[in-house]
Amino acid sequence: MSITGECFCGKVTYKIDAPLRDARSCHCSRCRKIFSAQASAYAEVAPGAFTWATGEDQLNTFDTGNGFGVRFCGNCGSTMVGVHNGAVHGVTLGCVNGDPEIEIGMHIFVGSKAAWEKMPEDVVQFEEGPPPKD
Ligand SMILES: [Zn+2]
Ligand SMILES: [Zn+2]
Repeated sequence: MSITGECFCGKVTYKIDAPLRDARSCHCSRCRKIFSAQASAYAEVAPGAFTWATGEDQLNTFDTGNGFGVRFCGNCGSTMVGVHNGAVHGVTLGCVNGDPEIEIGMHIFVGSKAAWEKMPEDVVQFEEGPPPKD
């Protein structure tokens, strides 16, 4: 299956040739600012599966520290991918087209969510980060 995504203005587009994984939403204050929203909505991409299709020259990069950063469209401002040491690490789900056949599996850092956000009752949520994987 092939997944596509694009920014709001449509200049930047991409293609992913593997299923997305580990979709999650982080409600911390940093993610709220970077995503301009109540939380992040983000999924990881298998190494090597991601390709920019158009508009890579429109992208700006913002380093968030520890080798991580985000790349966003310099024309319309959509945050599109997370990068780690320069390589695409994951995508912002808001810029994915259609149904990528994955659902957000957990909500993290709900303990520092915005005062104005009301959480749905039936989601998996953690006050801070997720428990360590086995
Ligand atoms: Zn754009
Ligand atoms: Zn966060």
